[in-house]
Amino acid sequence: MEYTTQQNFETLGVSEALLAGLAKQNITHPTDIQQKMIPAICTGKDVVGRSETGSGKTLAYLLPIFLRIDQNVRGTQAIILTPTHELAAQVQKQAELLAKNAGVPISSALIIGTAGIQRQMEKLKEKPQIVVGSAGRMLDLIKRRKIQAHLVKTIVLDEGDRLLEDGNFAVVQAVIKTTLRDRQLVLLSASVSGETLQRAKQIMKDDMMQLEAQAQRGLVPENIAHHYILTTHREKFLMLRKVLAGEKPTKAMIFLNNPENIEVTVDKLNYHGIKADGIYGQAGKEERKSALEDFRNGKISVLVASDIGARGLDIADVTHIIHLDIPEDATQYLHRAGRCGRNGKSGCSISLVTPYERKWIHKYEKVWGIRFTQKDMVQGKLVDSAKTKKDLEKKPQKQTNTTKKSKKTSEKRNKK
Ligand code: AMP
Repeated sequence: MEYTTQQNFETLGVSEALLAGLAKQNITHPTDIQQKMIPAICTGKDVVGRSETGSGKTLAYLLPIFLRIDQNVRGTQAIILTPTHELAAQVQKQAELLAKNAGVPISSALIIGTAGIQRQMEKLKEKPQIVVGSAGRMLDLIKRRKIQAHLVKTIVLDEGDRLLEDGNFAVVQAVIKTTLRDRQLVLLSASVSGETLQRAKQIMKDDMMQLEAQAQRGLVPENIAHHYILTTHREKFLMLRKVLAGEKPTKAMIFLNNPENIEVTVDKLNYHGIKADGIYGQAGKEERKSALEDFRNGKISVLVASDIGARGLDIADVTHIIHLDIPEDATQYLHRAGRCGRNGKSGCSISLVTPYERKWIHKYEKVWGIRFTQKDMVQGKLVDSAKTKKDLEKKPQKQTNTTKKSKKTSEKRNKK
């Protein structure tokens, strides 16, 4: 993780209790986005922040939320919305951990669609100050008056670009409308398109602040290497097996475009003796949780996912991202690749592409200013294609009849 040294948590106004709590997680220096977001959110103004994945954006909003919460008041003071349940669970875990480590009486609840509403209502009786979850369930519980929206000071839209997309925008707006006009809106995302910004402006106040972290270095962390291997549709799975066998990744995430193909891919991998599981959209909450747990604690080294399931997930030590399908959307590529190389560790993102799909690689290079290296699997090793070509050229080639013939004609031509 990159730090700049001008600011530290004390100068940003982080309390001693929170400092001590962070130290227990070995967090001692604020990241770039934290240096920018913490003071901005503390002003109470609306904020749009752009920051690369894995750059510490969760704490960039949780810390100022903790600072702004009135610990003597029970009831919802902050709502955090996320596009996926996994991300919500991760954020809520971080909030819980921070409160516990810092010894502050700030509690949080996870409010997501697939989980039992009865248990969530029980939890809400304890009047947690922070609720994290999906907009639909949140709205439901606000309408049932289980969440008191009038106390809300801050609403965070994490992975906000997704939350403002057509399918989600209406319900997100409905949640926002249940709160008072002077509450603060914070939107965070690795990518903020013109459309996202336009929608954000529709729901934010005129004096909203716009922040960018590390834009000058590009949005894709530099410690991730980007490779692609040319193959055919038919050979993709075989190539995947070759890459896994050759690279022996400690933790690899395999991405597919269509969630419906996750199950069959997992089955095929297991059939070939590769311990893998998947995060399926349709699977029960428990199954998803156990697949994630097994992957986190190293019981399995391969996790198959689609973009929907994996967005925003923070899993430590993912070494490889393999795109069995390549996303057409450059932003999606950024989100996927950002699952590896977290906390400054090195990571490797490998795209398996057909000659037709290679154009997307060029697109990502342009959009994100990154360089891809073409690779091949040769004798179980991932090697530069440029090198394999050179090696082939070096090998003395047998002269075929046609080459002999063309040599003769060119000699004739030269004589003329
Ligand atoms: P996020 O971008 O919020 O998903 O965070 C990525 C990872 O960075 C998480 O594991 C955090 O615990 C960790 N992290 C967040 N802030 C810092 C920091 N200031 N120093 C070191 N690690 C951090």
